Amino acid sequence: DEVILGDKAHTVIYEAGGISALGGIHSRQIPNQEDGTLALADIQAAIRADDVHQPPTRLIGLENTHNRCGGVALSIEYGWSVKKVADQYGILLHLDGARIFNAAVAQGVAVRALAEPFDSVTFCLSKGLCAPVGAIIVGKRDFIQRVRRVRKQLGGGMRQAGIVAAAGIVALEKMTDRLAEDHIRAQKLADALRKIPGLVLDVGTPFTNMIFFNLSDEFPYSAKWVAEKLKEKNVLVGVVGEKRFRLVTHYWIQDQDVDEAAKVFKEVMSG
Ligand SMILES: *Cc1c(COP(=O)(O)O)cnc(C)c1O
Repeated sequence: DEVILGDKAHTVIYEAGGISALGGIHSRQIPNQEDGTLALADIQAAIRADDVHQPPTRLIGLENTHNRCGGVALSIEYGWSVKKVADQYGILLHLDGARIFNAAVAQGVAVRALAEPFDSVTFCLSKGLCAPVGAIIVGKRDFIQRVRRVRKQLGGGMRQAGIVAAAGIVALEKMTDRLAEDHIRAQKLADALRKIPGLVLDVGTPFTNMIFFNLSDEFPYSAKWVAEKLKEKNVLVGVVGEKRFRLVTHYWIQDQDVDEAAKVFKEVMSG
């Protein structure tokens, strides 16, 4: 079977080919647009013909928020527009909603509404929701029944699971609404970084809790070098390219941390 995915999808880039190695699934990768979406025409063109030479298209996978596209949120309307195409061809629609709660908070909409067009949704209890471990898969009852068996096959069965489930319940009940604070702090940090010579922030960043930016072409050192200097001053940052950073705000980043990070960045960039 084949799944249509964006070429910048987490599933394509960061899961060690797991869908193929473990699921026996072939991925058809089409370009992610800058806003994290897949063009409807591209999706339609990628759906296979009924031909013994070709793997049957069974699924379309979207990602919300889209990590590699800057943590950008996809809209409810877009979800429905893809669902319409999927229905037309009798194929299923899945959402990698690792950060779906960020997507909901950023747009002021209910998670339920964002999830509704999809046949299945996954999301993380860790990351912004702060649980130490855990992810959830959501779908129809018979689908979940099959998922339980696959989980078992993959060695994912757990016994005394309540201790981790407890943290997951806290994540769902107490941590979703406060994501707005992370978005505000990301904006505040981006505003401060934007003023520092030598840093070039991506257009529109941050869309949610992620700030993406580059060192200017003229700046003589690498992002790794800058990260080492920041570390000497107790600021840890993510380097995601020769001259590129990804900074993410979360529960453990407070207002004073944002101020401190911006201050130290300024010192390193000018010193
Ligand atoms: C983190 C992440 C995943 C994987 O989540 P797990 O909880 O490790 O299974 C999948 N997709 C996206 C977009 C992610 O950011």
